Order: sequence, then structure tokens, then C-alpha cells
Amino acid sequence: MNWLTVRLPGCRIVYLPAGAPVEFERIRNNSPELRKADEMLAVHPRMRRILWRSDNPDWKIGPPGWEKKKKSHNFFYTVLHWSDGTDLSDLDHKVTAGLADESDFSACAPADFRTIRCLVCGTSIAVIMAGSRNGPICFGDETRIDDHKLYHHCPVCGQNSRWPLVADFVGQELWPSEWHIRAAPA
Ligand SMILES: [Zn+2]
Repeated sequence: MNWLTVRLPGCRIVYLPAGAPVEFERIRNNSPELRKADEMLAVHPRMRRILWRSDNPDWKIGPPGWEKKKKSHNFFYTVLHWSDGTDLSDLDHKVTAGLADESDFSACAPADFRTIRCLVCGTSIAVIMAGSRNGPICFGDETRIDDHKLYHHCPVCGQNSRWPLVADFVGQELWPSEWHIRAAPA
């Protein structure tokens, strides 16, 4: 794993640029569903995956080989989601160059991968669910969720009375069409 890290006030995160592989054996909230969804989360244009630790939010990187030791297997996988149109490939370059700081993360909301079932039509949908408790402590400010654009109804039946805080859909067939990733013209 390439330990590309960002220090933010109160915590340090491992930042995974688009397409970066994850060594899931080091992840505590590892599940077959998450491993499968990771292929799509890795290239989703409105989110980036991060790894973080709950026991020591300000963990330090140790000497060479540290990341292969058992104590470094204590990471959680979550995502940061942007709904404001931020170009995340720019952020990838900035983090890789060591130039990112807290201002680059001011517009994102912490979120988790879930598969939910609509309580009205029963459809199972892979979503990105926003929630201030879903990520590291430095993203725990609830106003991040208040300011975030969320989907307020089921994309299949349209019901909006029993619908959770969905920030995005994992599969692009449910994105608004202007967001679809198109193949580059030949
Ligand atoms: Zn529904």
C-alpha cells in the first residue's frame, strides 16, 4: 500500500487517489461486499476513499517496514464525498505533491458504503450514506452533512418519507445522466 497521508487538524488520514489498490487484509471493516464495491468506489468521480484509525487519530508513520507490521492493520475504510463539483483528480495531484491541507477537505462529507433496501418498493440499492459518525473525528462536524446535497427519494419508486441520508449511488446507472462517465471518443 502506498501510504499517501494528509495531516488535518486532529487527525491523519491515508488518502487513496483514484484507482489506487487497497490491501483489505489491513482493514477492520473488511467485507466481501466492500471489496466488490471498491472497484466502483475507486473510480467514482465524486468521492475518494480514505483509511483512518479510531484508536489513535494522530497516528504516526514509523520506520521502514512499519506498515507491514500487525499494529498497522487497525485501519478503517470510509469515503469522503463531494457534492459541490470539486475536481477530485486535481486533489489527487495535490495530495501526491504533498500540497493538500484542510482547505481542500472543507467541502466533503464523510460517508460509508452500504446496501440499503427501500422500505416501500423493496429494491436493494448500493449507496454512499452520509453521516458525521462515519469517518474520523476530524470530519465529525455535523454541519458538513447539513451543507451537503443529498438524494431525498428512492430512485426506483420515488418515495421520500422513509429514505436515509444518501449522498450518492455506487453504480452509475442511477446517477443523473449529466454525471455519467462516458468512454473517451475513439
Ligand atoms: Zn423505492
